[in-house]
Amino acid sequence: MIRYGSLIEGMERHLPDSIRRRLPPALDQWFFLKSADLWFPRYGIPTYGSGQAADMDLTFHAPAKYPLASSGRLVDSRVEGDVRTTHWVTERPAFVASFNVGPFTEYQITDPRIPPVTVHVNREAHIHLGALLLGQRDPDQIVGADVANSLAFFTRVFGPPLFKHYYATEIPYGHGQAFPGLIHLSWWTFRSFEENGIHEMFRAHEMAHQWWGIGVEPATYRDAWLSEGFADFAGLWYMQLVLNDNEKFFKHLKDWRRDIRARRGDALPTGLGVRVAEIQPRDYQVMVYEKGAWVLQMLRNLMLDFRTMKEDAFSDVMRDFYGQYRGRRATTRDFQRVVERHIDVPMDWFFDEWLNGTAIPTYILAWRAEPTPEHRYALHIRIRQEDVPRDFVMPVPIAIELAGGEHAYVRVNVRGPVTEATLQLPAEPTALELNPLESVLADVKTEGWD
Ligand SMILES: [Zn+2]
Repeated sequence: MIRYGSLIEGMERHLPDSIRRRLPPALDQWFFLKSADLWFPRYGIPTYGSGQAADMDLTFHAPAKYPLASSGRLVDSRVEGDVRTTHWVTERPAFVASFNVGPFTEYQITDPRIPPVTVHVNREAHIHLGALLLGQRDPDQIVGADVANSLAFFTRVFGPPLFKHYYATEIPYGHGQAFPGLIHLSWWTFRSFEENGIHEMFRAHEMAHQWWGIGVEPATYRDAWLSEGFADFAGLWYMQLVLNDNEKFFKHLKDWRRDIRARRGDALPTGLGVRVAEIQPRDYQVMVYEKGAWVLQMLRNLMLDFRTMKEDAFSDVMRDFYGQYRGRRATTRDFQRVVERHIDVPMDWFFDEWLNGTAIPTYILAWRAEPTPEHRYALHIRIRQEDVPRDFVMPVPIAIELAGGEHAYVRVNVRGPVTEATLQLPAEPTALELNPLESVLADVKTEGWD
């Protein structure tokens, strides 16, 4: 089940159901927080755009043998007898804060690319389960690598993060959650049994919230995708560009497309944000996280230079948006304006179709080619469009393979039930791929010309 309060607060990502409910080994060796985000004085449930951000001054008294990490900057730490008293102050108003404490081993990550990171891992409990006997890497190394590498990657592509020190700390639950300068990570991710990339992306997702959700805060409940969709996309991007795993990158995009398509027609639109969680809780992850990530993937490929395969235009948009709203709140419209400034095209149609609508197009491609008198080829393309309103429009790329092995890319503006185009080519086309590189959230089929 989903913990409703936390879900509304956001910046939480669950591992799959099969993992979510698993309790960690050696239950008596863990500290269970009663609440990660509803423990401090506040009005109601902290949520995006609730206007309840506050400066926080936090003092903890805890057994000296248990490392503690909190949101905010550590300004004082002293030990008297068995008790350590630590004092933390948030560096800017925060709408949510948390901490964690337990029988942890503490590791410091020092890497010239990033601010210092402290990792708290329940090493004893993992030894209890025999992780080290199985010859796995140490749990702190498994997690530390993604924490450091994603922090470095996001600093490079988005810009400098807000804080000067980060804590990544283990919790005995099946989810992760981000707070200013602090991330909670499921105990399960310190074990990394799965080989499908979910853990790497999960850890990068939580780290990405230091940019999306905390660095730039969604201004209203409708803008939740600026946090969760952006963080999910960041995890995917990390998988593709840093871990260099195209296979897992495309696999997750396809899995998410299947989830989204399965709910079209019934699910509420991504642009309703937190309302989706209130009305249809089970759709929140699909429509706000996964479809939100797909919206960025579509924007990225819309801006991709197919001649050079460079995506600088998209990275510039992301860095510019972050830079402009760093430490502030932003709406979807603010993001749209940054995109429009970069590409100089009105984008209402794009945000309207993909964030306010739930329709997912099906494209059916047919083509034929014939030689022309000038020793060239005329390529006739027909794309039928189904499952969307008549005025639904989207530029869709086509990869054309030419005799001789060369590739050409074109973008066709698909609009209405039938779109037709004729292209002049220097050589005979031998194969066509509609929607290469998972550029549009769509289903693609082919049919004969007649
Ligand atoms: Zn999240």
